[in-house]
Amino acid sequence: MLLLFLAAPWFDSQARADPQADFELWLQGVKAEAVAEGLPAEQVERSLAGIRYVPSVAHQDANQAQAVESFWGYLNRRVTPAHIARGQALAQEHAQILAKVQQAYGVPPAIVVAIWGLESAYGTVQGKFPVIDALATRAYERPSALWLRAHLLAAVRAIVRFGLTRAQMTGSWGGAMGQPQFMPAAYIDYAVDFDGDGRRDIWNSLPDVFASIANHLAQSGWVRERLWGREVLLPAAFDFGLADGETVRPLAEWAKLGITRATGQPLPAEGQGRVFLPSGRFGPALLLYDNFDVIKRYNPSSYYAISVGYLGDQIAARPPFVAKQRADEPKLTRAELIELQQRLQKFGIETGVADGFLGDKTRAALRDYQRRQRLPADGFPTPQVLAHLRRVGS
Ligand code: CA
Repeated sequence: MLLLFLAAPWFDSQARADPQADFELWLQGVKAEAVAEGLPAEQVERSLAGIRYVPSVAHQDANQAQAVESFWGYLNRRVTPAHIARGQALAQEHAQILAKVQQAYGVPPAIVVAIWGLESAYGTVQGKFPVIDALATRAYERPSALWLRAHLLAAVRAIVRFGLTRAQMTGSWGGAMGQPQFMPAAYIDYAVDFDGDGRRDIWNSLPDVFASIANHLAQSGWVRERLWGREVLLPAAFDFGLADGETVRPLAEWAKLGITRATGQPLPAEGQGRVFLPSGRFGPALLLYDNFDVIKRYNPSSYYAISVGYLGDQIAARPPFVAKQRADEPKLTRAELIELQQRLQKFGIETGVADGFLGDKTRAALRDYQRRQRLPADGFPTPQVLAHLRRVGS
């Protein structure tokens, strides 16, 4: 039935006479799929009762920000002095709960509070959409995006399994819920009832919110008593090819290559890590530990994970980065980044989808190109490297 809709030329939002009626019809297929997965039909029906098509969600989904954010732009917008001060005050105010959560899950309070701060501005910006409506609207508008349909089905499962109601399950237009901004599948896997009232209330209960965030990290492999990473200083003649965010070496070996803490002090003797330059030669040099990847399980963006670590450090009264934002930090537009990805592909270098997003794959592809061309292999896209690609590729 879905395929028939897809094939029909009138199947787009402009041409539909009655979106709500068409939406209801489409929803029958979702219900059938939920029942086929083994959920009781009556409960599926109840979980979706009253669901509405939300025009503003469809609009937002179709008009997502096109601007590319630079590393410093991303960091400075999220880790502001006001945000740090608020995080410190809240960490103190809720120190007792946070200590209990740390005891149970091994995740330090500052990291839990930092994620809470970045996800929902410490619970103040949770989103007010019934997420089931928001996810259904998005999945309906983009029938080929099967991952959206999977999110919707997870939301139905969450309602049925945990006795929630559609009205309780509120969140952002994207479908992220409550103070930790969990997608429904994350709610099923990681939300916990820490205050013991029988409900996993990530919307109103701070013990549940903190423990759910910490549980997400713990289940993803958080290593107790370890940092996420730290800023370091590279020696002048450092081979950028080693700073690929992938080459893991014992800290003792990095020290031998001349890397020190940002203060100039020697690195700790124990442990291992990778060197990563989020903004190429224009930003801080970071030594990343295993917990960095654990944060990325919460949100796969490297900038996000750095922001969590950086905000957490400062909530815990560690110093800010020594590296300072540079006025000449280069920045490509989304169109230029897509061009760069496409040109790398022409060289036979795998970049993943040319989507204009600077992810790990694009960085790795660019480093590969830079190595082949004997350029400093920092994997960071600049107008210069794009010009190089245009020259060499034409
Ligand atoms: Ca609870």
